[in-house]
Amino acid sequence: MLLRRGLGRSRAGEGLRSGIGDDRFRPLNITPFPNGELGVVWADGHESYYDGHALRCACACALCVDEGTGRKLLRDDLVPQDVRPLHVRPVGRYGVGVRWSDGHDTGIYPFDRLRDLCPCGSCGLRLA
Ligand SMILES: [Zn+2]
Ligand SMILES: [Zn+2]
Repeated sequence: MLLRRGLGRSRAGEGLRSGIGDDRFRPLNITPFPNGELGVVWADGHESYYDGHALRCACACALCVDEGTGRKLLRDDLVPQDVRPLHVRPVGRYGVGVRWSDGHDTGIYPFDRLRDLCPCGSCGLRLA
């Protein structure tokens, strides 16, 4: 894990974000798996596997987060534990929309946010 992190960062510069066009925030492939995970292959070679429930609970759409105050409206305990992504679609050039098995269809995950949410050991366990 640590080795991979070192390799991944040596090219792009430590912690720097160059925004649009940065391979770290450009997915090559986004796949919903039958087991409820969402898999993403990024242009810099990193692979992310998101737990369906955790990702669903991280939804930042207007129904889940109050746009004015930023307060979270979604109650994690009301999200089915076995919720899973059914379908993904591109949203403009900056994000992906996910249709969830609990009927939620307005979720949009901008790529930079999605990458920030990566739960792997290299990226940190912020979704724990
Ligand atoms: Zn939402
Ligand atoms: Zn990661």
